[in-house]
Amino acid sequence: MTSSIDAQLKRAVEQLNAAGSESPHIDAAVLLCHVLDKPRSYLLTWPEKALDDAQLAAFEAVMARRLQGEPVAYIIGEREFWSLPLKVAPHTLIPRPDTERLVELALDKIPAGACDVLDLGTGTGAIALALASERRDIAVTGIDLRPEAAALAEENRSTLHIANARFLSGSWYSPLTADERFAVIVSNPPYIDEADPHLDQGDVRFEPKSALVADDNGLADIRIISEQGRQHLHTGGWLLMEHGFEQGPAVREILHALGYQQVSTAQDYAGLDRVTMGCWQG
Ligand code: GLN
Repeated sequence: MTSSIDAQLKRAVEQLNAAGSESPHIDAAVLLCHVLDKPRSYLLTWPEKALDDAQLAAFEAVMARRLQGEPVAYIIGEREFWSLPLKVAPHTLIPRPDTERLVELALDKIPAGACDVLDLGTGTGAIALALASERRDIAVTGIDLRPEAAALAEENRSTLHIANARFLSGSWYSPLTADERFAVIVSNPPYIDEADPHLDQGDVRFEPKSALVADDNGLADIRIISEQGRQHLHTGGWLLMEHGFEQGPAVREILHALGYQQVSTAQDYAGLDRVTMGCWQG
């Protein structure tokens, strides 16, 4: 076994394959880039270059973690969302590509000109920071139950020099005053049922249950956000929530029953129901 980049990558891919990784090539390359502190192009340009002992040991250490199933994003401490490099930590959900759909749909609903937008259960701050970076003229508030998550989101905000976002800690709307209202409220809340076998597979095993699981077939938090959202939306304001691919009809029913109008569900990039929205006419 030589210590060249090429040989190390090959061996890593074999090990990851054997361990059942779904993306062995990407995993190996991202982990090696992290150890070398180099971009992906470096691996292609210098395949014969030898790793030194410290680099070999570091690569072995991160590979051992990945082979135990730990998500790459937690190992390297970073995940890109909406082209923003975000710091992630084990107390936050790892931002998903499908959640970019929620960002697209929210951007479509945010009115022209200065206004306030709220992101509930912000985690790394992914959605809030994506919206704030696209619309420098709006003010985005992100709230997370866990103070560590709100602090991480604030750190991401500061690193990315996004001035028009702030982060608060508390349960759903609780850090807000009773009369604070928003043009748009977005959320990617926990929505997985506790008994869902998906929770025992792959990367989600390492993510915080509090960010994934909700009571009432996964609908409990969606219900709270929808109920209390009525007090925090301007007339004509929009609520948009991500949910499970089979929850579209149930979420539409919740919004209808609470008096929201123009209720509809949009699909993710795989064509599955993923985001339901409604307009509050007061
Ligand atoms: N979409 C995520 C998953 O299936 C769940 C995210 C969430 O619960 N908000 O892993």
